[in-house]
Parts: sequence; structure tokens; C-alpha cells
Amino acid sequence: MPPTANPTTMPPPPPPPSTPRAADKPPLTVLLAGPRGFCAGVDRAIRIVEEALRQHGAPVYVRHEIVHNRFVVESLERQGAVFVEDLAEIPDDGRPVVFSAHGVAKSVPAEAARRAMFFLDGTCPLVSKVHREAERHFALGRHILLIGHAGHPEVIGTMGQLPPGAVTLVEDAAQARAVRVPEGRPLAYITQTTLSVDDTAEMIAVLRARFPELAAPAKEDICYATTNRQAAVKAIAPRSELLVVVGAPNSSNSQRLREVAERAGCPRAILVQRGAAFDPAEADGMATIGLTAGASAPEVLVQEVLARLAERFAVQVEEVVVTEERVAFKLPAALAAGAAAADDPEPPRRRPVPAAP
Ligand code: SF4
Repeated sequence: MPPTANPTTMPPPPPPPSTPRAADKPPLTVLLAGPRGFCAGVDRAIRIVEEALRQHGAPVYVRHEIVHNRFVVESLERQGAVFVEDLAEIPDDGRPVVFSAHGVAKSVPAEAARRAMFFLDGTCPLVSKVHREAERHFALGRHILLIGHAGHPEVIGTMGQLPPGAVTLVEDAAQARAVRVPEGRPLAYITQTTLSVDDTAEMIAVLRARFPELAAPAKEDICYATTNRQAAVKAIAPRSELLVVVGAPNSSNSQRLREVAERAGCPRAILVQRGAAFDPAEADGMATIGLTAGASAPEVLVQEVLARLAERFAVQVEEVVVTEERVAFKLPAALAAGAAAADDPEPPRRRPVPAAP
């Protein structure tokens, strides 16, 4: 009879031949940008859908991707959210309808009201601020130059705050140099919230040189989250041989992070949607790479990319934090009371004692 091994003293099984042992893996430093990932507007929009599902049950309709991230959209779909592009796709059955964080043209809530829909506005408050600015300039008789990207839902929503012809879109410095404006009308500019800080500054300088009386936003339209994520990328880009941005191809702020990284000195920046879509061999032969995430990408996807890198490298993470963010936005009033009650149930001992029968 062969001797029986004592399981407690058995050495661990050798790793499969294809998996390098940690000691055999080449070292790789990953500079992790901070801040990265979710912003307050994205967090609020997702909470609106989740709270609507919790308080009202499924289905909850959402007009457009609530934020530009498939992982987020699919996880909400599993909870009972139904994503549509048009209110016409939604039956008149009284179910909640949520508008995405990018904002909508005025015609959308007007149509929802006409159909007596129960709608919840997921528009980021910082996008709503730009909408109100556009209305103020229009009320003062100004023609508006909107700096932004044609076809982006935020731009469609902002232009849709005013009648056709009230706003002219300016997409780049060449257009800023060539744009024609109505004769004799005062001018103002506003911007999309998720643009490149540097590109926008260049375009504004061109417009100001052409139109010295151009009225400006009282406070910068590019939001704090876009500004901070770009600053963090600029801090790590010069030290990174490759910079990986976790984000969706249709996410404006993620695309801008990739561009900012290359302009700030990183030889190559790539956009990946999640760990499974990332080949860690991209970092072969490198000593240091950078990693960040767009404002609509959850942290779990950043961790997926780190896990893929750890399959191939002995990863050392160095977090580079340029600023701390403490911004949070409230839920719409129609959900806030229910959410507060769920978050903070009254302790049983403080509940009124029912009267004796
Ligand atoms: S990126 Fe900025 S504007 Fe867009 S949702 Fe986030 S905080 Fe709001």
C-alpha cells in the first residue's frame, strides 16, 4: 500500500506550464490616474434608474443609453431597464421613463408631458446649467456659438433648448476661423461639457479675436470631472510608454482622454471597453504604462484591466492623484423621499408604539 500523504503538509501543486510564476514575470509599473471613472452626474443618472426600478418595479424605460457604457447598460437591463431611442417606442402604460445624463431637447419632456408619462430627468445638473445659459443668452437677444461635436446627444439636447437657427455649432479651430454669424446680433458662446480643455481654449481664443464682444459663460462649461480626468492623464502621460483608457468608443470624455494622453507625451494611447477586450501583450517590453477611465466607466472595469496585466506581468501599481473630488448630486424629488427612507430606516425603537387595541 503506498504511503498516504498528509494533506496539510503537501506542497501546493505546480502552476500549469502556460502560466508564468510571479517570479518569472517581467516587472511592470502601472500609473493609475486619479481621479478616474465615474463622475457625480453619471452616478446620479444610474441611481435614478436603480431607484426607479426599486420603487416602481420593472420595466423602467430609459431614453438613450443612460451613460455611454455597455457594461452599465447591460447590468441595468438585467434589473429590468428597457433602453429605447425614441419615446414613440414606449407604450402608454404608466411605467417610469428616464432621460439620459446627456440631456434632451425641450421637445422630449414636452412630448412626455403631452402623453402624461411619468418621466424622471437624468440630465446631469452641469448639462442643465449649460441649457439655462443658452436660454439666458437667447433672452438677451444673443446669437449663440456652441462649441461641441455634431451628433453627440448632449449637443442635440443643448441645441434643442432653443428654436432652430438660434445656435450655430462650431466643432474645431478651423470652423471657429470660418464661422459666419448673423449681421448686427450680439454673440455668446457655450460649450459641450466633455471637451478637451486645451482644444476648447484654442477655439475660444480664435472666436474672441474675431468677435471681441463675445459673451462668455459665467462659469466654465467644461465640467469639473472632465477637467480633473484630463489633468490626471497629463500628470502620468509623460512617464507612460502606453496609456490605456477604459471607456466606450461613443464616450466623448473617454475619447478626449486618449487624445490628451498622446498630446501630453505618451507615445500611444488606446481605448478599451473592459478587461476581456484588452490584450496585455500590448505592454510587452515596457517598464511603465498609464491607466485611467472615462467618466462613464465603473471602477470594476479598471480592475479587470489590472487583472489582465497581472496575468502577464509582476504589476506594481502607483496611484497618481492630482485632486480629490467630493461632488454629489441629489436625486429628483420624485425619487428622493423613497430613497431616503430606504437608506435610513427609522430605528425600530424610535417608531411610534402602536396604541393598544
Ligand atoms: S462628465 Fe461632467 S457633465 Fe457629464 S455627467 Fe459627468 S459631471 Fe456631468
